[in-house]
Amino acid sequence: MPRLAKNLSDKTNTRIKSLPQSKIDAFANEIAQIPDIVKLTIGEPDLETPEHIKQAAIADIKRNDSHYAPEAGKPELLNAISNYLNNKLGVRYDPQSEICATVGVSEALNLTFMTLLNPGDKVLVPTPVWGVYFGIIELAGGIPIEIDTSDDHFLLTASKLEQTLAGEGGGAKALILTDPSNPTGRVYTKTELIEIAQVISDHDLFAITDEIYAELIYGHKKHYSLTQIIPERTILLSGLSKSVAMTGWRIGYIAGPQEIMQMIIKINLYLVCSVTDNVQAAATEALTNGEQDYIAARAIYEKRLNILHTALVESGFTLAAPEGAFYIFAKIPKKFGTDDVKFATDLAHKAKVGVMPGSYFGAGGAGFVRLSYAASDTDIQKAAKRIKNYVKRLQ
Ligand code: PMP
Repeated sequence: MPRLAKNLSDKTNTRIKSLPQSKIDAFANEIAQIPDIVKLTIGEPDLETPEHIKQAAIADIKRNDSHYAPEAGKPELLNAISNYLNNKLGVRYDPQSEICATVGVSEALNLTFMTLLNPGDKVLVPTPVWGVYFGIIELAGGIPIEIDTSDDHFLLTASKLEQTLAGEGGGAKALILTDPSNPTGRVYTKTELIEIAQVISDHDLFAITDEIYAELIYGHKKHYSLTQIIPERTILLSGLSKSVAMTGWRIGYIAGPQEIMQMIIKINLYLVCSVTDNVQAAATEALTNGEQDYIAARAIYEKRLNILHTALVESGFTLAAPEGAFYIFAKIPKKFGTDDVKFATDLAHKAKVGVMPGSYFGAGGAGFVRLSYAASDTDIQKAAKRIKNYVKRLQ
């Protein structure tokens, strides 16, 4: 095994060296070693990719579709994305110039921040949030500015945004919103988005909206998007990882104003050249004929949500209203104190249930834990019972 030459170790990119390791992954891996643990840690559907989507990819492979695709994506996929967004949001994106297929929303985020940011640019990040944003923003040379939303039931308000822009966030270039939210499961109403959009426009910011969980909303809530209100300054990111259980396929997309999209498409060529052919075929099928899959997945997740919800409330947790995605963000009962890392570690070792410490999701998350209900029905039942017994035992 070659070891790096001694004098070269100081010569690598300093920005990358200083990026933190993901605490979430480290914690999940550590507790995964505990025998018989039920893991509600990771945001990955346990469901399988629907058969018709798999068949679309298989047919594509059999057609020998194995050549470089255009850098923005194949026309069929770009049309499918455009139609999907038009049907869902009533916003028209030109498939020829305003959409780019990406390797998951992960690549979409990297492309977007690389395109928008100059070194030292500030990006406003309402927290708690999927912590990977921080690393991606820093990698692109930006500075993430956290906005703690815990006082407002984990939703960014227009006044909190104004307040941040008048202080630490002064001169910010962009705001990123995750709707529905990972880790809180909260969903914005149209009115709330209109108020936020006004501040975004007043301060001439870019809006980046991560809508990867848009198909997973429960009860009476509906999905709205900043792009319905301020399309001229919004960059919409979404993908199929969560809605149709395609995490391992690595497929997402970006839609936005043409001027920005042309830059994004240009650098997509540098980064990945193009998305895998058969994955594009699968995504085209999912976006064109996936409606029944979303309905089926929602029914499964909602049932699991209700089981966990009841168990947690009965055990003395206070929940951020879980309206979307597949997460519950729960405040630890008072008698356990406020150290969420200790609580999650104890719960893993003593009750054999894996949950994520809330403080790993940024400001406002301390004292909470995130539970993912993208786990099997059996695991959800087991976890609910184990949590209830654990809390009762310590009564
Ligand atoms: N955005 C959010 C809010 C997420 O929670 C995740 C995955 N955990 C991603 C993006 C990454 O999605 P993808 O699998 O499409 O890269």
